[in-house]
Amino acid sequence: MFAYRQTMIYGAIQLAADHSLGFIFTAVVICLVAGWLVGALMHRTREASPVHQYRWLAGTAIVAGLGVWTTHFIAMLGYRPDMLLGFAGDTTTFSALVAVLIVGLPLALTPLFKSRRVRTTIGAVAGLGIGGMHYTGMAAVEGCVQTHSPLISGLAACIGACGLALACGLPPRLATNRAVCALFTLAVGGTHFVAIAGTTLQHVAGYVGGPHENITLSVFTAAAAGVLFLGAFLTILTAQRFDAQEQAHSAVLRTALDNMSNGLVYLDETDRVRLYNRRYLEIYGFPADTDLSGLNSDEIIELVGDRHDWTAERRQQARMRLNEWRGIESFTLIDYLMDDGRIMEVEIRPIAEGGTVITFDDVTKDRESQRRIAELAFCDPLTKLANRRALTARMERDFFPKQRFKLLLIDLDRFKQVNDTYGHATGDQLLVQVAGRLNEVAGPHGFVARLGGDEMAMLVYGDQEETMAVASQVIAALSAPFQIDQIRISIGCSIGVCCTDDARDAGELMQFSDIALYESKRQGRGRTSCYTPGMLETVAERVQLETDMRTAIERGEMHLAYQPVIALADDRIIGYEALIRWTHPTLGMVSPARFIPLAEETGQIVSIGAWVLQEACRQAVQLPGNLYVAVNVSPVQFRSPLLLSDLTQALAQSGLSARRLEIELTETAIVEDGPQIATMLAAIRRLGVTVAMDDFGTGYSSLAHLRDLPLDRIKVDRSFVATAETDRHSMAVLEGITHIARTMNVAIQAEGVETTSQLQLMREIGCDAIQGYLVGRPERLEPPKALIALSA
Ligand code: C2E
Ligand code: CA
Ligand code: CA
Repeated sequence: MFAYRQTMIYGAIQLAADHSLGFIFTAVVICLVAGWLVGALMHRTREASPVHQYRWLAGTAIVAGLGVWTTHFIAMLGYRPDMLLGFAGDTTTFSALVAVLIVGLPLALTPLFKSRRVRTTIGAVAGLGIGGMHYTGMAAVEGCVQTHSPLISGLAACIGACGLALACGLPPRLATNRAVCALFTLAVGGTHFVAIAGTTLQHVAGYVGGPHENITLSVFTAAAAGVLFLGAFLTILTAQRFDAQEQAHSAVLRTALDNMSNGLVYLDETDRVRLYNRRYLEIYGFPADTDLSGLNSDEIIELVGDRHDWTAERRQQARMRLNEWRGIESFTLIDYLMDDGRIMEVEIRPIAEGGTVITFDDVTKDRESQRRIAELAFCDPLTKLANRRALTARMERDFFPKQRFKLLLIDLDRFKQVNDTYGHATGDQLLVQVAGRLNEVAGPHGFVARLGGDEMAMLVYGDQEETMAVASQVIAALSAPFQIDQIRISIGCSIGVCCTDDARDAGELMQFSDIALYESKRQGRGRTSCYTPGMLETVAERVQLETDMRTAIERGEMHLAYQPVIALADDRIIGYEALIRWTHPTLGMVSPARFIPLAEETGQIVSIGAWVLQEACRQAVQLPGNLYVAVNVSPVQFRSPLLLSDLTQALAQSGLSARRLEIELTETAIVEDGPQIATMLAAIRRLGVTVAMDDFGTGYSSLAHLRDLPLDRIKVDRSFVATAETDRHSMAVLEGITHIARTMNVAIQAEGVETTSQLQLMREIGCDAIQGYLVGRPERLEPPKALIALSA
C-alpha cells in the first residue's frame, strides 16, 4: 500500500516535471471549453427536429473530435521541454480524423438513442476512442523512441471509456452542459495524462527538425481550435437566442390561442394533434391541464367517449364524422349538434401542407334567437299555429318533387256573430280552442295553419278517402259546442279541398281549395267540397254574372214577362204571373233559373225582388181591375225585414189595390221557423195581399203546412202535371191535394199545362185554374189581348 502510494506520488511529480505547466493549463482550458460545447451541442441534437438534428450531430462530432485532438497536441507541445521533439504532419492530420471518427462521431450519435444502456455503451466506445486517438497522436511524435506501459495504457483507456460512458448515460435531466463538460474533461485529460505517465521517451541523438515543426503545429492547432470553438460558440449562442425568440413566440401564440372564444384543434397530416386550445378542452369537458399533444383522432375520441360514457356505437359514429371532416377538401362550415344540445358551428379548414384545422364556435344562442325570429315570422301569435307564410313554405317544399297531399281550407261558420255578440276577447279564445281541436284531429305529425281571421288550413298526406275522413272529423270537432268562461258557443265550419294532382303549384292549390270552399259555403255551409276541374270556370262565370247583375236593373237589362192564369170555371184570364227576364249584353237571354239562385246567395235578391214588386205593381195598374198579378218572392227575400215595407211601398207608389197583388212563396220559404213565418204571412195578408204556395209537391210536401199556414192558393208543380197521365202516383198526389184544398177552401192551380189532354185531366180532377204554354207563354205586357179560344 505504501509502495503504491509512493509510486503514485513519484509518478505525479515526474509528470509535472515532464511538462511545461503553461501548456498543461492551456490544454485543460481548451478541453473544458470543448466539453462545454459538446454538452451544449448534444443538448441541441436532442431537442432539434429530425431535419435539423444531423447538422447538430455533425457539429458535435467535429467539436468533440477536434477538442480531444487539440487538448492532446497542446499538452504534447508542453511535454518534455528538455527534449527536442518533432511531429510528423501526415500522422498528426490523420490523428485529427481519427479523433473525429472514433471519438466525436459515436459521442454525437448518443442523443439519438432513448435507451440509457445503449447510450452508455456507445459513450464507452467513444471513450475508448480517446485512447485510440492518443496513441495515433503519439505515433506522430518524432525524435525519440517511445515505450508504453501496457498496464497504464489499459488504465488510461478505462478512464476515457468510463468518463464518456458516464457523460452519455446521464438521464437528460442531469445531462447539463456542466456535467458533460466535467466528465468530458475528465475522460480526455485522464486518458492523456495517465497514458503519458506510462510512457517513457528516449531521445534520438542528432534529431534537429523539432522546433520549427513545433511552432507550425502550435499555431495551426491554436488557430483551428480557436476558429472552431468560436464558430460553435456563436452557433450555439444564435440557436439559443432563436430558441428564446421561438419560446416567446409560442408563449404569445399560446396566450392568443387560449384566449380565443372558439375551440381549435389542429390535426397534422399524420392525424396527430399538433395544436389545440383551452376552449377546445372546455367544449369537450376536459380538465384544463389535459395534454392532447401527439394523440391521434381515434385516441381523442376514446378520451371524449370515456368522459361522456359513450357507447361503442356512439364512438364509431364520432370517428366516422371526424374522418368525414378530415376528408373535406375545401373550407367548410357545418352546424353540429352536441349531445348536450349545444350547437357548434364547426369550421373545417384543410391546410396546404397537409392536415386540418378545426374550429368550434358555440352558436347555440345565435341559433336559438334565429329560431325565435323564424318562429315569429312563421307562427300565428294567437293560436301558435303556423301562419300563411309557413303554410306556403311548407306547400312549396312538398310540392316539388310532387308529394301527393291535400289542402283543406277551413272557414268557421258564424264566427263573425260570435265576435259581434261576445266581443273580440271571446272570439280570440274561441280561435285558440278551435286550433286545439284542429291539432287534435291532425295528430302529432299533422300540419295546421291559421291564415287569418277565422280561416284555417290543414295539410293531409293521404288518399281521397282518408282526406274526406279527416274533413268529417274536422266538421264534427268544430260543430261540438265550445265553452268559453260561462258562455256556450256553437259554430261550425265549411271546408274546401284540393289535391296536388289538380294544381300546378302551391299558389294554384290555394286558389282551387278556396274555390271549393266557396262552393261549400254556397251549398249551405257545414260541408266539404272538393275541387273538380271546371269548378274554376263555373266560379269565374258566376262571379262575372254576379258583377253584371249589380248594374243590370239600372242599365235597363231586366224586364218582366207575364204569363196568364186561366180559371177553368169560365176559361177566362184571372191574372198574370210576373216572371223576371234578363237580357245580358253579351250572353243574351239569361234564365232566371240561373241567376235567381245566384242573387239569393249574394243577397242581391232583396233589391231585385223589390224592383220586381214595384215594376209588377206599376204595370198591373194598366190591367183590367178584375185581374191580379202574382209576384215570386224568394225565401231569402221573405226572411228579409224589408219585405213588408217593399210591399207597401210598391202598392202605395203604383196605386194598385192590395187585393190585386199575390205573392208566390215556395215551400222552402215557409217551412223553417213556423211561428215567425205565420206572423209574417198574417202581416202580409192583413195588407190585403194574397199568398200562394208555389211549386207544391217538390219540397217538403207536407200537408200540415196547408192546414197551419194561412194560404189563398196552392200551385201544384208542373212535374205532376207532366206525369199525371202516365204516373199513378202523380195522379194520386194531384187528386189528394185538390181534395184537401177544397175542404180548406183554398184555390188549387196547376202549372205547366202544355197539352189539351193535360188540360182535360185538370178539369176532371177539379182544378180551379191553370197556367201553361198551352194557354199562354210569359210575354211582355201589352194591351189586353183577345182571349185564346180554349177547346173543351
Ligand atoms: P216558377 O215560379 O215555377 O215559374 C214558372 C216557370 O215555368 C217559368 O219559368 C215559366 O216560364 C215556366 N212555364 C210556364 N208554363 C210552362 C209550360 O207549359 N211548360 C214549361 N216547361 N214551363 C212553363 P221561368 O220564367 O224560366 O222562371 C223560372 C223560375 O224562376 C220560376 O219558377 C221562379 O221560381 C223563378 N222566378 C222567375 N221570376 C222571378 C222573380 O221575379 N222573382 C223570384 N224570386 N223568382 C222568379
Ligand atoms: Ca211562380
Ligand atoms: Ca211554380
